[in-house]
Amino acid sequence: MPDSAKSELRNRYAATVMRIQSACHRANRDPGDVTLIAVSKTFPVDIVQDLHALGHRDFGENKVQEMLQKKAHLDDLGGYEDIRWHLIGHLQRNKVRHVLGATHLFHGLDSERLAREINKRAAVTGDPVDCLMQVNISTEDSKYGVPLADVDSHVELLHSFEYIRLLGYMGMARPSEDEQSVVDEFNVLRELAENHRDIIPEAIISMGMSQDFELAISAGATHVRVGSAIFGSRTYS
Ligand SMILES: *Cc1c(COP(=O)(O)O)cnc(C)c1O
Repeated sequence: MPDSAKSELRNRYAATVMRIQSACHRANRDPGDVTLIAVSKTFPVDIVQDLHALGHRDFGENKVQEMLQKKAHLDDLGGYEDIRWHLIGHLQRNKVRHVLGATHLFHGLDSERLAREINKRAAVTGDPVDCLMQVNISTEDSKYGVPLADVDSHVELLHSFEYIRLLGYMGMARPSEDEQSVVDEFNVLRELAENHRDIIPEAIISMGMSQDFELAISAGATHVRVGSAIFGSRTYS
């Protein structure tokens, strides 16, 4: 990567970190309680290396194959074992076995069938898989995520699997110019986390992307997933 691109990346990263800190101050929250996940999907692996050199460790990918390729490349180079890979996209059941052991946190657990498959595969290795339940908080018909009406039953159900550690929730707000409607959707996720504190006491709340992470922080996000604000716009998704 040329030096000019490197310094631009550095600036965008620093600006994002500062925006997170400001949003925390405005919300009276400790910036240490919000984890930035840099979403590197569609971008070449050298941007991961550049951000790693700046001290960043949490990276998000939405496709299994792409995450594994980047991870394998960096594992070959050595020195990147401390990266925490977040799988933030939909996971097909036939790919579950590939991601076990490679994923720090899976954000897209949204069905009993998928949970069964993860549990079955993880039982073989004996290592539980850290997962977030993806909830369909947006008012539009989203393909993925547990519907709000099914959340209560699913928290108990997904929590009950021996080899799944259900650590919290993930959601995406419907993009809108109307900030209040975005905040309202984020609030739904935080409120359901509060409502199930008996099952998950200190839940991770993964919400907020480039366009809305400050609103997500104001509504209680513990993890924000930010891609284009750091890396620039993507040519495909
Ligand atoms: C791509 C993606 C992001 C990051 O989106 P940006 O708009 O680039 O910040 C966050 N979460 C999920 C689930 C994604 O697929």
